[in-house]
Amino acid sequence: DTASLTGKDLAAAINADTTARAQALTEQAGRAPRLALIVANADPASAWYVNSLKKSAANRGIDCDTVDLGADASADTLRTELAVRSADPETDAIMLQTPLPPGVTLDEVSPAIVATKDVDGVSPLSLGLLTAGSAGFAPATAEAVVELLKHHGIELAGRHVAVVGRSNVVGKPLAQLLLAENATVTICHSRTANLPQVTAAADVVVAAAGRIGLVTGANVREGAVVIDVGTNEAADGKIVGDVDAESVRGIAAGLSPVPGGVGPVTTALLMRHVVLAAERAR
Ligand code: NAD
Repeated sequence: DTASLTGKDLAAAINADTTARAQALTEQAGRAPRLALIVANADPASAWYVNSLKKSAANRGIDCDTVDLGADASADTLRTELAVRSADPETDAIMLQTPLPPGVTLDEVSPAIVATKDVDGVSPLSLGLLTAGSAGFAPATAEAVVELLKHHGIELAGRHVAVVGRSNVVGKPLAQLLLAENATVTICHSRTANLPQVTAAADVVVAAAGRIGLVTGANVREGAVVIDVGTNEAADGKIVGDVDAESVRGIAAGLSPVPGGVGPVTTALLMRHVVLAAERAR
């Protein structure tokens, strides 16, 4: 039987801790921890996500300052706002929403976020700090995968983990976090030859490619653990992962659901990062 590796209990436990710490910070400093959420798009999916972040922040006792710079904001405008917030002692944490305006890349604006406030680990400095094993913030989604595995008692030390996806926000930082847990890590991507054989050799498979049905029961080994990071919109409008859950069930020892797996843990960790940034700053 394949266990459902849900993230709801873990998210609730993290959220309870964050709420208590946010309250303690508010009592000490006379103001709540503050997150600046910078938006420069007119994307409905992004608007939905911003709304859900605002709600989570409110539920934790965190102030959320949403700054909409408009869907045609220039790289300079974004950099200036990020730099102002980086220097502002009243702002504890900064998140930059994607997508960015056409022609503006994350690479050219994210360095303006000071690492101590970069709660979603998007700047090159944050990724470098993570790679070096120094204190910094890992992207919340990557961290959520490791926290979910630990929560469900899945051993990582010495085991072979195949990560499918090499983006700077998920695959690469996740590989670093897994190395820090002493896993043996294989990073796969769109140019990987014989992907099914690579994933079939792994004890743990993490699917983070953004491709519906990429990982099936035929390419995981019996007793493997499968974590599904994908959030794809199916033809019927539903959100589905990268894993063909039907075919994996009965083969894998555990599979994280979409929705309800990595997602809620990601949001909970983001809010924990905001509180951590505020604690470190004061
Ligand atoms: P991305 O598009 O930046 O990167 C995708 C990666 O997958 C690339 O490295 C690419 O090489 C690889 N890839 C693409 N097709 C492949 C294939 N056929 N075989 C092997 N590798 C392939 O995406 P991302 O931002 O890293 O996000 C990945 C997925 O995770 C998306 O579905 C995204 O929506 C989801 N996501 C979920 C959360 C969450 O909180 N649950 C957060 C962020 C991203």
